[in-house]
Amino acid sequence: VAHPRPFSSAPAPLPATYERLNNKYAEVRRVLGAQPLTLAEKILYSHLDNVEESLLSNTNNGRDIRGTANLKLKPDRVNMQDASAQMALLQFMTCNLPQTAIPASIHCDHLIVGEKGADDDLTAGIKTNHEVFDFLQSAGQKYGIDFWPPGAGIIHQTVLENYALPGLMMLGTDSHSPNAGGLCTITIGVGGADAVEALVGAPWELKAPRMLGVHLTGKLNPWVSPKDVILHLAGLLTVRGGTGFIVEYSGPGVETLSLTGMATITNMGAEIGATTSIFPYTEATGRYLQSTRREQATKDVMRLQEAGLTLKADKGAHYDQVIEINLSELEPHINGPFTPDLSTPLSQFKQTVQEQEWPEKLSAGLIGSCTNSSYEDMTRVESMLKAASEAGLKPAADFYITPGSEQIRATLERDGTLEAFNEAGGVVLSNACGPCIGQWKRHDGVEKGTLNAIFTSYNRNFRGRNDGNPDTMNFLASPEIVTAMAFAGSTTFNPMTDSLTTPSGKEFRFLSPRGLEGPPTPFEEGRDVLKVQSQAPDPSVSVAIAPTSDRLALLQPFEPFPSSDLTGMRVLVKITGKCTTDTISAAGPWLKYKGHLPNISANTLNTAVNAETGEVNVAYDLDGSKHTIPELALKWKHTGQPWLVVAEHNYGEGSAREHAALQPRYLGARIIVCKSFARIHETNLKKQGVVPLTLADEADYDKINAGDEVSTVGLYDMLRNGGKGEVSLLVKKKSGEEVLVKTKHAVSEDQAGFILAGSALNMLAKRA
Ligand code: SF4
Repeated sequence: VAHPRPFSSAPAPLPATYERLNNKYAEVRRVLGAQPLTLAEKILYSHLDNVEESLLSNTNNGRDIRGTANLKLKPDRVNMQDASAQMALLQFMTCNLPQTAIPASIHCDHLIVGEKGADDDLTAGIKTNHEVFDFLQSAGQKYGIDFWPPGAGIIHQTVLENYALPGLMMLGTDSHSPNAGGLCTITIGVGGADAVEALVGAPWELKAPRMLGVHLTGKLNPWVSPKDVILHLAGLLTVRGGTGFIVEYSGPGVETLSLTGMATITNMGAEIGATTSIFPYTEATGRYLQSTRREQATKDVMRLQEAGLTLKADKGAHYDQVIEINLSELEPHINGPFTPDLSTPLSQFKQTVQEQEWPEKLSAGLIGSCTNSSYEDMTRVESMLKAASEAGLKPAADFYITPGSEQIRATLERDGTLEAFNEAGGVVLSNACGPCIGQWKRHDGVEKGTLNAIFTSYNRNFRGRNDGNPDTMNFLASPEIVTAMAFAGSTTFNPMTDSLTTPSGKEFRFLSPRGLEGPPTPFEEGRDVLKVQSQAPDPSVSVAIAPTSDRLALLQPFEPFPSSDLTGMRVLVKITGKCTTDTISAAGPWLKYKGHLPNISANTLNTAVNAETGEVNVAYDLDGSKHTIPELALKWKHTGQPWLVVAEHNYGEGSAREHAALQPRYLGARIIVCKSFARIHETNLKKQGVVPLTLADEADYDKINAGDEVSTVGLYDMLRNGGKGEVSLLVKKKSGEEVLVKTKHAVSEDQAGFILAGSALNMLAKRA
């Protein structure tokens, strides 16, 4: 390990972030010596608020802090998408600060519905959501936050093109923020309350992650794409396999991947529950920085590395777990339906479809999104479209394309790729999330309740995610495989072995896709009206919220924790099966209420399955009356009845959606008890003052039922002791019998403070 040294005096000054990074890295080395570090450790530890205290708090070996120490980190910036930015900014406003402490950006991408095509949809979206966009724009002006207007692009693509720089640490209020890990950053998806901590300049806390190394060898075959790496990995690791880990890629195979391919892989690290994922700096990284007009960054990175912070793992760095993938042996994969870890190799998919009796007819193919709309993805698809068009073929299923940003759209338009999409009869949607987040108005006669299959190149496929129809089977694949399936109109087609019949009766076989890693000349910037609005903070701007609005409502602080244990709580509902953040706070049409806590709370747990009856969104009051879950929660809120929920594994899996924590809190939830939590959601609960407890013995799940009366034992003491101490639940059954259930918790000292204060925000507001 080279000893870090100050930058030599060079003519061009280095960005302040790199000066800071280099100095912090020198501190890390002073404390840890020449001990080999993973790339993620180098970057993460170089963002510690207090390097010495954090790295020496446990032992003299930074490796031993993994999984135990609570790191206090100072990120370089915060990126927010429009749906989650509303609540983040409403929370930030309560701190009464004149500007954000670190750079930040707002991206208007989640609220545009995909229906007829880009222009019509954008116009309609702006009209429907103008109130929210006005609020976000005015907050951007007031606090000096970059504002990307609707149509400018999807947060992760825009961040990759404009803000991500190797070695940076960023927070994003969206679970797929690790997309930027493809560009050698540590980027972590968080809830709005975490974002507010960083925005006010407070250190942001993270349990020191363990390191999962993925060693890549070989080179992808022509039909295989980077998407298949992560689809395969999700199958190996499952949706929980990455929990508590940073996934770090290395090996000679890395050098064969494009930058955007690496971003696709890190984007979907969210699907295995990883804290984040990261690739080292490669030649492809440099090429991407150049094509996105950031030549200076490549020079800065070179100097940073010369000074000692090499942007790759040290030789001999230790990983807690290692997975080997030979890219040459990988084949295309298809994951789904309903979960991203149900992974089937393409060669076995036909048989699986037939065995499982999944629909053989494909109703729609959708490509693009933040995950797969790169120049490489789109030009590879273009090669397929052109060949099919020459043979007189059109897609047999509906075919939609979502460009990830105005920059990529304009470049594809300039280079003729969009023309190929239009000629094929594809519908190019606006540069926004659209069908990926339930914002999809289908006009193909597939009504809610109709069993059908769709293929997407998106990243997530929970039930109902795309069109709100729980009977839409959604399969994830690379854009090339989605396109091939769309032409066949079939889920059993294998473009590597099967043929289609042209209108003239000839046999047509797709050749393997060919594309360009990036554009031959730098990316186009696109239309002026869709460019970023960067501004200095302007305290004279008043943030636009109408008191009569049903879209936005100012926040009221939650009550502090009582000076005693919790008593008299009731189990609102006992949930079985998956309970994702989509289950707890559905997206789709509900997205419009993201800034209005009372209104959006009417969707709370509305797709959860009642463990005792098997019914969806049904809960029973103590008198036996039947309600929807949010109705009963609201009723209990009004009567002052505190409640809890009991659930199974990986509660809160999926996204950083803090509404999934805020809404139960608003409706009167005090604790959530389950077999295990998803990391981001567990943190979000604590930030909102809800106590997450896991069952010490999973079998105790069977001992608690809906309607049971529950008191905590030891909770208040644990909170007063800064997270130290055990907590049990005293469960009183309807029969009068009492059962003591032992639990575990992961409440840190800071988090104990949040819970006692009523929420993290209450505490930040006091400090600010
Ligand atoms: Fe938007 Fe989908 Fe990407 Fe989320 S995963 S940012 S909803 S495109």
